[in-house]
Amino acid sequence: MELTLCHLYPELMNLYGDRGNVIALSRRCQWRGIRITIEPRTLGDEVDLSSYDIIFIGGGQDREQRLICSDFRFKKGASLKEAIESGCVVLAICGGYQLLGRAYITLEKEEIQGIGALDLVTYAGDRRMIGNVVIESRVDGLTGTIVGFENHSGRTYLGDGLSPLGKVLRGYGNNGEDGTEGVSYRNTFGTYLHGSLLPKNPTFTDHLIRLALLRKYGETEITPLDDALEQAAHREAIRIAGEVS
Ligand code: GLN
Repeated sequence: MELTLCHLYPELMNLYGDRGNVIALSRRCQWRGIRITIEPRTLGDEVDLSSYDIIFIGGGQDREQRLICSDFRFKKGASLKEAIESGCVVLAICGGYQLLGRAYITLEKEEIQGIGALDLVTYAGDRRMIGNVVIESRVDGLTGTIVGFENHSGRTYLGDGLSPLGKVLRGYGNNGEDGTEGVSYRNTFGTYLHGSLLPKNPTFTDHLIRLALLRKYGETEITPLDDALEQAAHREAIRIAGEVS
């Protein structure tokens, strides 16, 4: 079996080791004998994103979001929307997550346009939301906690048709108000969680791999791996975030 992963704007959208998500996905495929090809695509690249199995975009501050926004909308947006609707596995972190939505509105009321693939909007607030996060998954077929680290001023609000990735147990999540974190739509997931996220969330990582294999091969079984170290990191992240009730 073989998967292709597109890593969007790897040199621009890469906060707190977001690239580690791509490494975790590729290692966990390789350890099972699943071939995975990583293709970086950045500013200026004309690319048909609907041909990939997995698409990843990391986080970036307002500056990087401004730098990529028109390329993202006009050179990648249409085929990324097509990919999302057709069930491609997409993971977007923080600044990348915000740009899957309609817009990110900065404190100066500047509107950084997103690609509008998801009905969500983000408004910058004057207080940054920083710290360790623990959420409980709200994704079908994925149970348990997801852990990470957030640092954003944006407050994201989901449209009516969208579900969150999880319910906040510790931290702020989408906006610090409604107890939601991230978004889950078809096989697309957006989240504020850096960390990197996937290395210490092996269950979520395998969920993404399973979804990609299911879509491509109709296959859901993947070989279990020894996750002792990854699960220890997961538990430690919960411990430092405080007791979860
Ligand atoms: N500019 C965004 C915010 O602060 C994204 C930050 C990030 O990707 N960490 O909300």
